[in-house]
Amino acid sequence: MKTILLHGGTLILPDRVKEVADIIIKGKIIEWVGKKNKFPASIKIDEEIDVSDKYLLPGLIDSHTHLSFNGKEDMLVLCKQEYETLLFETVRSAAKTLKSGVTTIRDVGGFNYSDVYLKKAINEGLIEGPDMLVAGKAISITGGHLFPLTYEADGVKEMKKATRLQIKNGADLIKIMVTGGAVTGQNIEVVHFDLEEIKAVVKVAHEHKIKVGAHVHGSSGIKRASRGGVDAIEHGSLLDDESAKIMKDNGVFLVLTRGLEFMFEDISESWLKRISPIRKKTARVIELAHKFDIPIAIGTDAGGNQFAPHGSMPRLMEQLCKEGMSTTQVIKSSTIIPAQLLGVEDSAGTIESGKIANILVLKDNPLSDISTLRNIVNIINKGEII
Ligand SMILES: [Zn+2]
Repeated sequence: MKTILLHGGTLILPDRVKEVADIIIKGKIIEWVGKKNKFPASIKIDEEIDVSDKYLLPGLIDSHTHLSFNGKEDMLVLCKQEYETLLFETVRSAAKTLKSGVTTIRDVGGFNYSDVYLKKAINEGLIEGPDMLVAGKAISITGGHLFPLTYEADGVKEMKKATRLQIKNGADLIKIMVTGGAVTGQNIEVVHFDLEEIKAVVKVAHEHKIKVGAHVHGSSGIKRASRGGVDAIEHGSLLDDESAKIMKDNGVFLVLTRGLEFMFEDISESWLKRISPIRKKTARVIELAHKFDIPIAIGTDAGGNQFAPHGSMPRLMEQLCKEGMSTTQVIKSSTIIPAQLLGVEDSAGTIESGKIANILVLKDNPLSDISTLRNIVNIINKGEII
């Protein structure tokens, strides 16, 4: 097993710049982190990389992706293509994601379990990609959000079965569709599941030590999903004071997917028509999440829509800095906070000994210039420099 020394870089902690440090990587694990030239003499170094004028950030975590889809076309159009073709595209999507500095993703809804197979191929070293937590098939009501792609279930009994089936098929988390969405053009204020149905999913998932993310846009849906015990609200577009308070009281994370839609001018007419009602109303989400101290994890929704191509995390982070988040908040929401949401805080989210060696080498300090993430010098993924 090779031992690499990253010599003399400046470490970025969740909220500040730490002193110059040495990092020793053994295989895929961070073996030692400490002051420059102070590591134990017993550690034999095979390769030394001088990073003395560079900044070191933990690999980014994208909390909301759909690697099974290419993002160029509608999910509902894509799922009519040959499954095998889509599978090859997932390989490219994984590579693009990794090359943007994202070393861990929470993939929240694939196509016929392509997410499960992709994760397996990455874990077996067949292809390069980020560490993945996958949801398998999202669960919706009959005719719910994106139903041609989901597992449709109604009633407590079917919800339990649907949850157990996702776990059986390899899901690391459960995704439920609690309201309609921009893609399908359904009324986003209609709540799709009863409280008892949501509670049934949460009970089964939590018994299996896995978490539940709820796709929700409308405020009624945010309230019901939060009361039902879900761990995260995805999107949360129409968050208001009341629903924000209920999220806070129930310890629910917000997975913020807002932002990228402001960065592209070539969005098609039909898309604009579908997203504009939501777009107009989402402006307060960040402000309210801050006001009620709700933990924010950032997600690109890559693959899920036209304005979120794979590999766009650095651009989204830049955009969110323009929309009322500080660079510190944006970096926390892309590293340490999502590590807690994903339940991987023991292996990701910071640069510490014992964690997986997912490290970005940057030219400038991202806390003062977030755009340095556009040109990452080196990406270390599971101990390998790519
Ligand atoms: Zn999505």
